[in-house]
Parts: sequence; structure tokens; C-alpha cells
Amino acid sequence: MDAHVFRAWIVSAAGVIEANRDRLTQLDAAIGDADHGVNLARGFTAVLGTLEAGGAKVATPGAILTVTGNTLISKVGGASGPLYGMAFRRAGKALGDAADVDLSALSAALDAALAGVQQLGAAREGDKTMVDALAAATRAFSKAIAEGASPDDALSVLADAASAGAAATVSMQALKGRASYLGPRSVGHEDPGAVSTALILGALRDAARTAGR
Ligand code: ADP
Ligand code: MG
Repeated sequence: MDAHVFRAWIVSAAGVIEANRDRLTQLDAAIGDADHGVNLARGFTAVLGTLEAGGAKVATPGAILTVTGNTLISKVGGASGPLYGMAFRRAGKALGDAADVDLSALSAALDAALAGVQQLGAAREGDKTMVDALAAATRAFSKAIAEGASPDDALSVLADAASAGAAATVSMQALKGRASYLGPRSVGHEDPGAVSTALILGALRDAARTAGR
């Protein structure tokens, strides 16, 4: 996967976040402060502008993810801006200067993203956060790669595991972030950050699939 695929990923992610802006905000209205969709959509719109402005200077997969992370940090407030920023920056750093990224390098980058999110936010699986989607996804992705899955299949496993991880947050009680203030009343709602993580990883699968045609 080259820079073209990574640009397509971010463009696709921006599109799917925009399309789901109100849904994400509704989820955050139930257990937070109703800003997740609006904030993230604004952030990804800014990312598209930065990538456009950077042009050919943002030429590698790693640079694209680093620029994405930097922009999300500066444009998205709240808890999720710094966390997503960290995730994309760590992933970008893990990819280094490589012009082409294979499945195992991508897997290592997503593992680095998860480690960054957990270092910054201290959430564990089961705490009802984006970690529930990201950890389930990275684990399933590594396993699929180890079992010899094709890129398309491995990325489908990644996206599907993220969605399942997000769905599993419904029955959890939030132990981190704003939703934790609700205590047991946070149970019964899907975590907005877990849902946006699943959307972003679904966009990766879609971008790789389109580029592979
Ligand atoms: P805020 O809660 O500051 O309004 P957002 O609404 O943008 O921020 O994002 C909320 C999401 O951030 C939650 O749904 C959750 O997935 C994620 N989140 C919050 N705190 C943490 C944390 N400590 N670790 C991981 N993710 C977190
Ligand atoms: Mg919020």
C-alpha cells in the first residue's frame, strides 16, 4: 500500500465521518456532551485542507498519517482530539519513510496507535472507549495476517472486528472519559469514540479495496 492508498484512506475517513456526523453526535448526546460528531467532522475537514496544501511534500504513508494526527490535535477538542491525534502520529512514526507498506508494517503501525492511545488515556479494554474497537481490531488483524490472509481479507477482518468491538460497548459501563460520570447509566449506549474508530478502520478497508481494483 502506497501513499495513494493512505491518502484515499484519509479522504474516505473524512467522508464517512461527515456522513455519520449526526449519528456520532447523537451517541455522544446520550452519554456525553453531544460534540463528538461535530468535532471530528471539523477535524477531518481540516485534515483534507492540510493534505491538499501540503501537496507533494506529504509524499509517504507515514507523512500522511503524521500530518493527519497533527491536524486532529490542533482542530479537534475534547478527549478524542488528542487521542486520535496521538493514534495517527504514532502510526505515522511507525511507518517511517517507507514508500510502500505491507500488511505486517501496517499491523505494527496500528499496534503503535493503540499503545499511544492507552499511554495517553489509560483506558483498558472493557472501559467503554475507542480502545474497545481499536484493540479488538488490531488483535484480529494480527491473527488474520499470521494465518496468511490476503490483504483484502485481513482488512475486512480488521474493520469487522472494530465494528464488533464498538457494538460490544453497549453493555459496558464507562470507566473513562466523560461518560464515566454517568456511572451505571452509561450502560445501554454504544460508545461514540468506539463507533468513530470502527468507521475510520472501515474506511481503510474501503480505500485499499478501491485502490486494488
Ligand atoms: P469529550 O468527551 O471530551 O467531549 P469527544 O466527545 O470528542 O470528547 O470523545 C468522546 C470519546 O472519547 C468517547 O466516546 C471515548 O471513546 C473516547 N475517550 C474518552 N476518554 C478516553 C480515554 N481515557 N481513553 C480512550 N478513549 C477515551
Ligand atoms: Mg463529547
